[in-house]
Amino acid sequence: MNLEKLVRPNIWKLKPYSSARSEFKGEASVFLDANENPYNYPYNRYPDPLQWNLKEKIAKIKQVRPTQIMLGNGSDEPIDLIFRIFCEPQKDNVVAIDPTYGMYEVCAGINNVEYRKVFLNDDFSLNAEKLLKATDDNTKVIFLCSPNNPTGNLLNRDEMLKVVTQFSKIVIIDEAYVDFSSERSWLTELNNYPNLIVLQTFSKAWGLASVRCGLAFASEEIITFFNKVKYPYNINLLTQEFVSKQLDKEPEKNRWVKTILKERSRLQSELENLSMVKKIYPSDANSLLVRVDNANETYQYLVDKGVIVRNRNSVSLCLNCLRITIGSPEENTVLLNELKSLK
Ligand code: PMP
Repeated sequence: MNLEKLVRPNIWKLKPYSSARSEFKGEASVFLDANENPYNYPYNRYPDPLQWNLKEKIAKIKQVRPTQIMLGNGSDEPIDLIFRIFCEPQKDNVVAIDPTYGMYEVCAGINNVEYRKVFLNDDFSLNAEKLLKATDDNTKVIFLCSPNNPTGNLLNRDEMLKVVTQFSKIVIIDEAYVDFSSERSWLTELNNYPNLIVLQTFSKAWGLASVRCGLAFASEEIITFFNKVKYPYNINLLTQEFVSKQLDKEPEKNRWVKTILKERSRLQSELENLSMVKKIYPSDANSLLVRVDNANETYQYLVDKGVIVRNRNSVSLCLNCLRITIGSPEENTVLLNELKSLK
């Protein structure tokens, strides 16, 4: 893979902003280099632009090198940066599975980049050949999401591998829901495939959606381009320190995941007994995609009862489908009771 051919020429040549804090390396006691206020420590100081302390901790947990990590304001930030790094507006295109997470298409739109959707099979499985056929010389990036959203299913690993090995440009594997899955992460393959970018997030299994911290993992070379184009101080001090402390709660995260998975099974078997439920798709995520008689009516009925699910009726291949997030046992029981009293 020749990265110079993939990165937009202006980004390849870009001399990034060099912040005061990234120019200085070493020990010092007097900092008069960044036009900061000397009072109100530690909030007066700019944070580490590359978040090394936090990355070192994450690297140990994820078994990668700190230099293979980019941290963003949610994984939505690296998704946007991928377009800005690789895709020339009005010239390049990206290919993505359909249905999938909506922000890939929104970011393509914002960046004025053609977004090519390739339908998954009716059971939401991936056909690598069909996806690859939709690419051309101007395709820079393929987006895969596994477990997928809103469908919840894992994509077949061998089909994904075909995409990663047969497409010589960038392949994104979004693993936002990987902690709920029976399949191992693609992070173990990072050193084998220099065209691979794996996305993960602290928003789901770690229970930190409000904190906004997502991760991109890739080759060190690709990460240098993320670092070039991101805002210099994209992760504030409070987030860096807070996420670092939260990482000590890994056993608690694992317990949450276990409970959520148990609840996923319970919800699935109870929903199966309702006559309004026509199909429940297999899920490796913290949600169930459920086909009902009439999604719009059921959605509105639940809203009126104060229970909000996601109506995916108008999404490709998801006619009359609701995406139900697995909540706490109590929340799931409220949902089930409301649906049972509907019929
Ligand atoms: N990827 C997928 C597949 C998602 O479903 C989401 C959020 N729903 C994200 C990425 C973004 O998550 P965040 O920005 O909170 O990290």
